[in-house]
Amino acid sequence: MNLLMHMCCGPCACFPVEKLREEGHQLTGYFFNPNIHPYKEFRHRLTTAEEFAQKVNLPIVVDNKYQLRDFLQKALTIEKNTDGLNLDNRRCRMCYAWRLHQTALYAKEHHFDAFTSTLFVSPYQNHEMMKDVAEKIAKVVDIPFYYEDFRPGYERGVDISLELELYRQPYCGCIFSEEERYSNSFKKKRRKKLKAMYAQKKEGLADE
Ligand code: SF4
Repeated sequence: MNLLMHMCCGPCACFPVEKLREEGHQLTGYFFNPNIHPYKEFRHRLTTAEEFAQKVNLPIVVDNKYQLRDFLQKALTIEKNTDGLNLDNRRCRMCYAWRLHQTALYAKEHHFDAFTSTLFVSPYQNHEMMKDVAEKIAKVVDIPFYYEDFRPGYERGVDISLELELYRQPYCGCIFSEEERYSNSFKKKRRKKLKAMYAQKKEGLADE
């Protein structure tokens, strides 16, 4: 398949690129991430994505517009209309939808067979929500969404990114996640989520 692969950053692309190439797909990277703030971080992730692409000989399309105000406007409108209920989920849904919708539109316009995203490698993202969003967008834009759960290769991706000496970011991307990086309650929540994920993985291996 000729796939347009949304890239959230360089390190997250490491495993999906290896896996999809092994499967025989033809790949083009697409960097569109208006969620990343502040500007210095946005530039750092963008240049790391380009550095990765150059190191593995991956064609890449980059949208280098920095859309702080648009992102904040969308996020704060959600906050205003939800009284804080499920705020993280709603903000992340908007964030996934914006990036994947733009990817699907570009893929359609440039005659790719389907679109996908490196976001599906991350154990820190809401995987099921992203999948649901991507499937809905695929129907609206009328282009297939290529789904693969890359999470089993997350550690392999970390190893590749270290071998390639890529910058690895310490937070998801938006200014809210940057704030959460320093919050103890958030760290606790994250540890709990990872523990549950690894326990589930262990159970799966025991059943095999
Ligand atoms: S936490 Fe991550 S996915 Fe959620 S809104 Fe922020 S940047 Fe987007």
